[in-house]
Amino acid sequence: KKLGVALVGLGYYSTDLLGPALQMTQHCELRGIVTGSPEKIPVWQEKYGIKDTNIYNYDNFDQIANNKDIDVVYVVLPPSMHAEYTIRAAKAGKHVWCEKPMAPTVAECESMIKACKDNNVKLAIGYRCQHDPNIQAYMKAAKEKTFGKVKMITSAAGYFDGRTDHWKQNKALGGGVMGDMGVYALQGARLATGEEPISVLAQTFTTRPEIYHEVEETAMFQLEFPSGARASCHTSFGINMNYLNINYEKGWIRMKPHSSYNGNNGEMSNGTIINFPIENQQATQMDDDALSLINGTDLLVPGEEGLRDIRVVEAVYKSAKNNELIKI
Ligand code: NAD
Repeated sequence: KKLGVALVGLGYYSTDLLGPALQMTQHCELRGIVTGSPEKIPVWQEKYGIKDTNIYNYDNFDQIANNKDIDVVYVVLPPSMHAEYTIRAAKAGKHVWCEKPMAPTVAECESMIKACKDNNVKLAIGYRCQHDPNIQAYMKAAKEKTFGKVKMITSAAGYFDGRTDHWKQNKALGGGVMGDMGVYALQGARLATGEEPISVLAQTFTTRPEIYHEVEETAMFQLEFPSGARASCHTSFGINMNYLNINYEKGWIRMKPHSSYNGNNGEMSNGTIINFPIENQQATQMDDDALSLINGTDLLVPGEEGLRDIRVVEAVYKSAKNNELIKI
């Protein structure tokens, strides 16, 4: 059995990554689209053979409840729209896959989790890296304490974004680097320790105020974990950077890159090379999640995991605004 997936929002990520990746999955089939841009419909229909009856816009989307072809709705919209479309999909009785960041606020994340529970559907967040064996390698080191306790982490995720008019620069649409790339820097630290931070000290700033005046271009945040581990995390829309250095009591792991679509790799202080082949991260993610739904097993990255990040994101903003240490 294959699960029928409908993509909501046909922007960059759906067009360039998820649409093609769905063709590589074994347990999913791209059967529907939800779009506010009618000109995209013939292009997607021609490319993927989508039936007329499986095409929706943002107004008639709720009618997807009556469509047996669609098992999963994948929300790939700007972050401020994630809660609304997740909740509407849940009410339509569809499982939901939602892109990161889960939503701009903890309150929205909680309402998304509740809506899915209330409607007896599952919610997964699109943290593709957690499905990548190269990332799982350092998650395993945290669990098995291969090199003892984690002492200090440096985690960075950023790229130079040259665009000047995009939702990533718009506060109302859920922009800002912290939710966008910052969650990768944060995931690096959280997954490397296997713990949740207990305090945050953060700064945000911009070098291009003409573009980044509503939201931050760059954020730097320090995390303290219950075990005593500390992390220094950096994220930016102005700097290309992608690495994770984990220093343990008895060794180290270096990943570079650690949050790319492909090619995540690294090295351990004992000489072990981390370089597992993975054909397509998004296809792996969607097949993992489809199998969990088919078999009724736990999702690798449920809504609760998206929420954990947003708790820290909120604390980062509060810390930066008040210039104070925030306890979580
Ligand atoms: P995008 O701007 O390219 O696409 C957004 C889509 O939403 C467009 O089709 C646009 O038409 C539609 N939309 C509907 N209402 C809109 C509005 N009011 N303003 C702007 N767009 C509106 O963005 P994207 O890069 O495809 O990102 C979409 C989501 O996917 C985001 O949550 C983003 O963080 C996530 N994403 C995840 C990854 C990943 O690696 N997991 C990579 C890229 C993007």
